[in-house]
Amino acid sequence: MTEIIRDKAALRARVTAWKRAGEVIGVVPTMGALHEGHLSLAQAARAGADRVIVTIFVNPRQFNNPSDLENYPRTEHQDAEKLAPFGVDVIYVPGPSEIYPDGFATSVHVEGLTEILCGAFRPGHFDGVTTVVPKLFLQTGADKAWFGEKDYQQLQVVRRMAADLDIPVEVIGCPTVREPDGLALSSRNLLLPADARAKAPALGHVMQGMAEALAQGGTMAELVAPAEAALAGAGFDKVEYLELRAADGLALLDRLDRPARLLAAAWIGGVRLIDNIAVG
Ligand code: AMP
Repeated sequence: MTEIIRDKAALRARVTAWKRAGEVIGVVPTMGALHEGHLSLAQAARAGADRVIVTIFVNPRQFNNPSDLENYPRTEHQDAEKLAPFGVDVIYVPGPSEIYPDGFATSVHVEGLTEILCGAFRPGHFDGVTTVVPKLFLQTGADKAWFGEKDYQQLQVVRRMAADLDIPVEVIGCPTVREPDGLALSSRNLLLPADARAKAPALGHVMQGMAEALAQGGTMAELVAPAEAALAGAGFDKVEYLELRAADGLALLDRLDRPARLLAAAWIGGVRLIDNIAVG
């Protein structure tokens, strides 16, 4: 089984030895409840770095809703078992005080990019992300970090943060891994009641239909209302956003006039799902 390290001093000692040997260190930050999406990142990291650290930290600061934090699945033992075949060097599972010691008073905020999409519906969420991620970069001594396109806005925000703070970590995005029925893998899928789980793939299917229409010259002005109606018909309770945005920089678009991304967040069975796909 892969070694688990729980304190930053022990991690620092290990990483210092690797750095002295000139090894390239890769990190895959996660909140655990690992699935094939996370494992695809571990596999990419294994291929792209000499040493791989997978971090598991359910970061309270990026939860804007206390019950979401409380219900978030925690499956450390199974996570370690799932990672075993991937040749990860260390699983870093910091206790809360390793990340937020008494007196902790710093917050990192990225402007603009965090005010749209998920940022508009989850106040403080991205500040939580951009505060913990540089800490994980520094604690692990990472040269490279792998993130999923599943959280496309997060990937853009983390890239911006790393560039703005001159953090010398290469941020690498990996494609979204999906269930055979098209549902994007997510730790929160575990929380879906069975009937909602059966209906949830409609989100990706409706988005796929929109992407095809956009590629043929369709506009969001004409596509959004029927798509929302289709999602309601399929059992979704609420669509938070369904937007076309520039793949780079996330400017709001009505039609496909540059490489773009269709992004959505919607509620079903008491669970908030997000998805996004490339368009054009
Ligand atoms: P999380 O544990 O949800 O914070 O996710 C940790 C990392 O795994 C993030 O970089 C996510 O974007 C990535 N990830 C989550 N779900 C998927 C997926 N279905 N495919 C690829 N990467 C994913």
